[in-house]
Amino acid sequence: MSPGFTLHSDFATAFPELVVDSRAERQPDPQLVVLNDPLAEELGLDTDWLRTAEGLAFLTGQETVPGSRPVAMGYAGHQFGQLSPRLGDGRALLLGELELADSHRLVDIHLKGSGPTVFSRGGDGRGALGPMLREFLMSEAMHALGVPTTRALAVVSTGRRIMREGAVPGALLVRVASSHLRVGTVQFARLSDRSEELDLVARLLDYARDRHHPHVARGDHAGFFRAVRDAQLATVAQWMRLGFVHGVMNTDNTTLSGETIDYGPCAFTDAYDHRAYYSSIDTGGRYAFGNQPGILGWNLARLAEAMIPLLELDRAQELMAEFPDRWEAARRTEAARTLGVDAGDPVVAGFLDWLPEARPDIQTLGRALVDAADNAPAGLAGLVGDAAWAQEWHTRAVDVEALAAVNPVYIPRNHLVDAALRDAVDGDFGAYERLLQAVTNPFEAGPVMPELIGPAPGDFGPFVTYCGT
Ligand code: AMP
Ligand code: MG
Repeated sequence: MSPGFTLHSDFATAFPELVVDSRAERQPDPQLVVLNDPLAEELGLDTDWLRTAEGLAFLTGQETVPGSRPVAMGYAGHQFGQLSPRLGDGRALLLGELELADSHRLVDIHLKGSGPTVFSRGGDGRGALGPMLREFLMSEAMHALGVPTTRALAVVSTGRRIMREGAVPGALLVRVASSHLRVGTVQFARLSDRSEELDLVARLLDYARDRHHPHVARGDHAGFFRAVRDAQLATVAQWMRLGFVHGVMNTDNTTLSGETIDYGPCAFTDAYDHRAYYSSIDTGGRYAFGNQPGILGWNLARLAEAMIPLLELDRAQELMAEFPDRWEAARRTEAARTLGVDAGDPVVAGFLDWLPEARPDIQTLGRALVDAADNAPAGLAGLVGDAAWAQEWHTRAVDVEALAAVNPVYIPRNHLVDAALRDAVDGDFGAYERLLQAVTNPFEAGPVMPELIGPAPGDFGPFVTYCGT
């Protein structure tokens, strides 16, 4: 049986300066734990083949398909505000790009947890089963919610036990992304570029423009910056609409495509609290829920810096000066979707005023709005911070179906994800599969599973996420 597809090594060939040829390490006993059949089919991959020994060898990077040239990508990054000039794929490999049959777009096929590389900096290069399953579930939930994101094709357990808070089962994630180019990739190129004309940076920007923002003219660096800025703004506005806390918005985790990437310590809030943060390593709450737009602006300023003077300083300042208004527009657009009204409707501004004060659970609120639009307003009163506002909103002609299609029934609640992962790591996948089924069909109107809806019970206690993934 043959794979029936080839990969490209487009990025590796174009940017020898930014990659290091690498091999995935051997795995003692690889087992396919989850395969994303719908995604595989979307990509034109044969799901039967992926389940064969050959398929597994591909998914673990043991056998390369024609055209593939596995590389570790170099990138820099501001981590919690400090520049690390040399991060890179310390436990990941780009296997190559797959060309989509219909659009001819390239998507990256990437392994996370495939063993050490030259960028490992003392780390073991591996992934733990729990966190890899977590990224699979969270990223697929985000995709189903309509948020731009990397995807998860498979999780493979390696048969190795690795050291984290103790010995835990190892695994790797097969990730699919429109690319793995980050703000940190541009920073890395800038730091390595010795040429007067910044040839490497310019080529990288053109490459990223071709793949992600083809409507921008070649060489129009200001246009490219604006496109990245607006794509990221739209994504973060969706995070805020849904109560998603990324948790580690370092510049190496901010993509040029606008896709959400790196589901380490992320979480959905149980209350719309701007101060909410969950990551054990984010001690100052730098990446708290309400700080995300500001941090995005900060990260984009780092991108602009890395592009200057290809991007003229004056232009960079102008484009950054537009950021607050652009942000306001993006969040209003998203809030208007939650409410089923036009972005210019005054109820949107009113909503955004009381929301962070009243701090309702945003998912419960969204569904209460759906019910209220459907003439069952009972649940709304206790959630809305302003009774007059609710009356005003109720006078609007809201399309119930459209509202139900943007306000999810299911989001991956922390307490449920936690419990499902604990069972899964112990070998019982029942809860994980049920939860995955629910969060990848988040607007499902059929018979609901009440145990998968609503915030954590009071005795769940404060939730903490760990980056030691
Ligand atoms: P992340 O927090 O996953 O965005 O990773 C930040 C940096 O740490 C990246 O350069 C990763 O490749 C690296 N890294 C994370 N975990 C490991 C590990 N177990 N071994 C080697 N490098 C790692
Ligand atoms: Mg990262």
